Amino acid sequence: MENKKGIIPVIRAEKDCTVYCPICHKMLDVKAGEVIPRCCGKPMEVMK
Ligand SMILES: [Zn+2]
Repeated sequence: MENKKGIIPVIRAEKDCTVYCPICHKMLDVKAGEVIPRCCGKPMEVMK
C-alpha cells in the first residue's frame, strides 16, 4: 500500500489474539479481523 499522505497503515488481527502495549503494559483482547488498537502513539503488539 502507498503511504504518501502520512496515513498510518491499519493493521488487522489475523486471528483472535491478545495485544499489549510495550510502553504502558496495557493488554487487550482482539478478535480476528479487528484493527489492532494503538496505544501511547504506537500500534499495540500481538502476543505470541
Ligand atoms: Zn500504552
